[in-house]
Amino acid sequence: MQYFPIFLDTTDLNCLVVGAGEVAARKVELLLKTSASITVVAPIVCDTVQAFAKEGKIKLINRAYGEADLSNQQMVFVATDNSELNTLIHDQARAQKILVNVVDNTPLCQFITPSIVDRAPITIAISSGGVAPVLLRYLRQKLESVIPHNVGLLGQFSNKFRGSVKRRFKSVTERRYFWEDVLEGDIAESVLQGNAQVAQQKFLTKLNATDTAKTRGEVYLVGAGPGDPDLLTFKALRLMQKADLVVYDRLVSPEILELVRRDAEKIYVGKAKSKHSVPQNEINDLLVKKALAGNRVVRLKGGDPFIFGRGGEELETLVEHGVRFQVVPGITAANGAASYAGIPLTHRDHAKSVVFATGHLQDNSINLNWQGLAQPDQTIVFYMGLTGLAIICEQLVKHGLANTTPIAMVQSATTTHQKVITGTFKDIQQKAEDAGIKPPALIIVGSVVSLHKKLNWRSDS
Ligand code: SAH
Repeated sequence: MQYFPIFLDTTDLNCLVVGAGEVAARKVELLLKTSASITVVAPIVCDTVQAFAKEGKIKLINRAYGEADLSNQQMVFVATDNSELNTLIHDQARAQKILVNVVDNTPLCQFITPSIVDRAPITIAISSGGVAPVLLRYLRQKLESVIPHNVGLLGQFSNKFRGSVKRRFKSVTERRYFWEDVLEGDIAESVLQGNAQVAQQKFLTKLNATDTAKTRGEVYLVGAGPGDPDLLTFKALRLMQKADLVVYDRLVSPEILELVRRDAEKIYVGKAKSKHSVPQNEINDLLVKKALAGNRVVRLKGGDPFIFGRGGEELETLVEHGVRFQVVPGITAANGAASYAGIPLTHRDHAKSVVFATGHLQDNSINLNWQGLAQPDQTIVFYMGLTGLAIICEQLVKHGLANTTPIAMVQSATTTHQKVITGTFKDIQQKAEDAGIKPPALIIVGSVVSLHKKLNWRSDS
């Protein structure tokens, strides 16, 4: 992050604008929304800036800039059409440790002004660091469309009752739960509709109710999908943003973890290099302990929690201890890989059934019903099958599948690192080795794999 976002209190801020053309006028307009004292210095002054001066909104010095103009200023915007002068002012300001912005000249900006969604007291500022203005405008439009127009009213409402909520609830967590309830429910709705009086009545009733402070520990078992954050469900995202604590493992991508509430404690229980993962019973106990202590715990798992995710075992322990829970399904790796590699798992001309199997090696063998798997017209997806690839190929051929059966391997499906290779039982091991296929990888076996060539819609594989 090259630019650090902050919101400045402008109450005692002195700000100088050098130049008084239309570009400078736009900066002055922006500054006029704040409480900063604004001085403009320029020999030629456009009508807009003249008008501001006449109305007493700014101090106008109608002459060329001199270094002495910087004295007592904390911030300066430079907007003259003379690039040498702009550079000089920039250098002088930097030397005096005054924050400087040369308009439309990012290299000469110590700070940049973000794109703003203004719903005072709520202000949303976004920036692309000056590199992608069109993308920024697009994102801002999106924000404008999802944030209620009068969210500012909600801000004022919250401010009005902050003190009483603080007095009513001692702990930060209790206060957060209370506010979340208010903001997600009909009280907020009434505020947004402009029904301040109704909202206030409901609010005070809720505030004075006796049971609001009850402990609400709960576990959300959430499927995080195969990697691409866009494949999260809305519900997963909502609960991730409510969490006090997140327990996650190796398959959860960093991009997805970014979406968890920032203040939530994050506990990693996956395998680190050359280390064992936290034993399952310890994870189960951790979930119980944290939930009983009143936390909202998100147990975040790659893919779907009920498909080779041991989610069931964790829930059984929760039931034993009377801990409440919810389960949120995720897109399992097989679905993600199939979609992003253009390999339909069923197809009327190729496969009438699909089986998800584990290719996990135990004592150098894989204990599966090979006869049941090696069926014509069936797609088989192997999870955890990378090290067992040779055995998988051998067993399927031994149980009747042709040596020429198409087979695909999809590494890091749905992420930007996705890699897809295809072959047959004869050559896939060599191809996987040549391509350096690494975990996490999925193996797809069956005639549907032949469709990859035609249906592959991602240019990266
Ligand atoms: N619950 C998970 C599966 C966990 S088992 C789910 O529903 O997807 C772990 C195995 O899943 C890995 O060994 C690998 O075979 C597969 N896997 C998980 N994410 C993957 C990904 N992004 N690409 C390819 N395979 C993946």
